[in-house]
Amino acid sequence: MRSPIPDYLTETLGDIASDTSGAPADYIPELATADPERLGAAFAMVDGAVYGAGDVNIEFTIQSISKPFAYALALADRGFDPVLAKVGVEPSGEAFNEISLEGGSGRPLNPMINAGAITTHSLAGPVGLDAAERLQRVVDGLSAFAGRRLTVDESVCASEMEHAHRNLAIAHMLRSYGVLTEDPATVVEGYTRQCSLLVTTLDLAVMAATLANHGVNPLSGERVVPEPVVRQVLSVMSTCGMYDAAGDWATQVGIPAKSGVAGGLIGALPGQLGIATFSPRLDAHGNSVRGVGLFGRFSSDMGLHVMEVPAAGRAVVRSNHVAGAGPDAVRVIELQGGIRFAGAERVVREVTDTAPTENRVALDLTMVYSIDDVGRRMLLEIVRRLTLDGHQVALIDPEGILPVPEVSPESR
Ligand code: GLN
Repeated sequence: MRSPIPDYLTETLGDIASDTSGAPADYIPELATADPERLGAAFAMVDGAVYGAGDVNIEFTIQSISKPFAYALALADRGFDPVLAKVGVEPSGEAFNEISLEGGSGRPLNPMINAGAITTHSLAGPVGLDAAERLQRVVDGLSAFAGRRLTVDESVCASEMEHAHRNLAIAHMLRSYGVLTEDPATVVEGYTRQCSLLVTTLDLAVMAATLANHGVNPLSGERVVPEPVVRQVLSVMSTCGMYDAAGDWATQVGIPAKSGVAGGLIGALPGQLGIATFSPRLDAHGNSVRGVGLFGRFSSDMGLHVMEVPAAGRAVVRSNHVAGAGPDAVRVIELQGGIRFAGAERVVREVTDTAPTENRVALDLTMVYSIDDVGRRMLLEIVRRLTLDGHQVALIDPEGILPVPEVSPESR
């Protein structure tokens, strides 16, 4: 059988291609020369399957899509507190290059606007690196997210540096507040080189999938950043990734995302996939027109909105019956699916409502494929309490999903 997914992607690209509104960015002259008809889309699943259609192997500069990844590196390298002390996490509701800093502290509002991203660049790598070493850390880190060596487009970089007055102004403001502690021009140059890294749509889908896959690159298997960092980055992407269009995006598309002025757009759906699109014509917010359209389609066609309500916890209890009779009777509660808090609460209620009169109780986890930490603790607590109530409890757990509970007399 031929997979329907590439066909779906090709068809969706065909539908969106007629939209020729917007224009490529021209404040960086080199970007204005981009072929506006380029169009590509790719999916990278968290288990490493990759699908693409259209211009998915054409290189373009990553631009602002580098921001969440550089933020991830700064958090991983320096820890949360030093980074949060310098860059906030509040949506600004303003354009990406707005010269706005938090009143009083001078702290940039978030790492997705240029002020925050320039500061974030200065926080990548351990304390004490020089500018070249820090840039190398950023290039190495972003390459690990992509799973291949990324290089700088020198002509786009030079073109942006010639017209970097606004970013230089922002950096000088940051320096005057002591948010930046080094030469503003040097930091802007490093940040601009970061933005000038060349990527393809396929690279971007894999980078997004690394975020969707809790920080492990699904192709290389490399852990690029720790899990708490990924949660922070995805949260900030979902509130600030689309700048002053973040509210429309969050309600209509609902996928943590980041756009770049070269026309790239990524979305990361935790536990499912990374998505990337490429089309250089931008809307008034600086987001790719067709990219926004494609994400809207993907989200509604495939139910990808993060606020989509998942299946109810009720389904976790597959059956509740008595096997055997007399003193050998066993109360068997069969569970199934993935168990998180609401599912575990349902199991608690099943056991308390049933109030088993049988001496022997079995919790059958054969059909359970995943359980998170709170689910595990709650099931163990059920076992502990039933045991203390005088039941003989058996866990049928062939896959070893739960550790064997220890009921010590002291825990009574
Ligand atoms: N390098 C660009 C800038 O700083 C990135 C902006 C963007 O992609 N939104 O202006």
